[in-house]
Order: sequence, then C-alpha cells, then structure tokens
Amino acid sequence: MLNIILLGPPGAGKGTQAARLQAERGMIQLSTGDMLREAVAAGTPVGLKAKAVMERGELVSDAIVSALIGERLDASADKGAIFDGFPRTKHQAAALEILLAQRGRRLDHVIELVVDEDELVRRIVGRFTCAKCGAPYHDHFRLPAVPGVCDVCGSTKFKRRPDDNEETVRTRMAEYRAKTAPILPYYEDKGLVRRVDGMASVDEVAAQIDAIVDGKA
Ligand SMILES: [Zn+2]
Repeated sequence: MLNIILLGPPGAGKGTQAARLQAERGMIQLSTGDMLREAVAAGTPVGLKAKAVMERGELVSDAIVSALIGERLDASADKGAIFDGFPRTKHQAAALEILLAQRGRRLDHVIELVVDEDELVRRIVGRFTCAKCGAPYHDHFRLPAVPGVCDVCGSTKFKRRPDDNEETVRTRMAEYRAKTAPILPYYEDKGLVRRVDGMASVDEVAAQIDAIVDGKA
C-alpha cells in the first residue's frame, strides 16, 4: 500500500488527480479539513475532542490531527493514502512518520505538481461558462464559434466565478508557497520529492503520476 503526499497550487489539478487515484486504486484522500468535519459529525472519540476545542474557538492541535489520521488509516486506508493539508510543518512531518511507522508503513513519495504561475493565472482568469447550460469557454483557448453566443444552447449570457480573478489567484498561490515552504526542503533532504509537470494535459499528468506510483519513473 502506497502512502503519498500530493502537492500543487490551486488550479494545478491536484483534486482531479487525487479523485482519479481514489477511483482507480482505492486509495483514500486524507484531507485534514474534511476529516475534522467528518469526525465531529460522526462523534468519534477524536471527533468529540476536536469539537470541544473548536467550540472554545481554539485551533485543533497537532496531537488531535495526528490521532484523527491514525483513526482513518486504521479504518479505511488499506489500499494506500493521499495526504492533503497535512503535514504543514516539520514537526507534523515527523509526527506523520511516526504514525505510519506504528502501522508498518512509510511515506513513499511527495509528488509536487509544478506549474508556471503566470501561465496558470492566464488559464484560470480566462475561464467562463454559459450561464444557461454551463458549457465551458475560455478567453484564449475556447471562444464560442459565434462571438457572444453559446455553441451548445444559443444563450447569450455567460458567467465567471468571482474568485477567478488575478488578484485572488495570485494570493492563493502565495498561500500555497508559504504552506509548502517549510516541508518541501525537509522531504527533499529525505529524497522523497518527485516533480510532475502540472502544466501538461490531465492525461499526461496522470501518466506521470502513475509512473511514479508504479515505480516506473
Ligand atoms: Zn449554453
């Protein structure tokens, strides 16, 4: 069973790849935020602890997050795990190592989707959809055949997501760099970091990740 960390800035397709790994390989994505919400909702022992902390308006400690990950590893990760949102610090990275070692596992790869930020901004900011049927378009790559008219349904109304603007996208990328800055060098030193071209097509990215996961790259 494979245990990986998948890293990539917003818009790099990390979610798409994680969903694919789950569907094709039965791996589970351990996203810290989702796990906390689920554990609280399910009322597990760790969930109850986390709930009490959050109700006091405090941050959930590393110990609670670790316990939560342990719970999930034991319950449902026998085909492998994709860690998302954890670790964020060297301290958490060390905690994860212990969690895995206690279960006879180890972290196999830290796979980073590397992007050209300016190009990624261009891709994200150019997106828009038909307001009626949802058909996707793009300012540079996919304009309607007749300007202003949806190819699919003929509607003349289009919309853009409010956070698909340059400022928001650049802020999210800076946040991503800040979050990964502490752990990338840590894993570099351990020789675990593998880089994938996040600007390639979804299929190409998938092929690159599969080659790493299957030990062929
Ligand atoms: Zn349409």
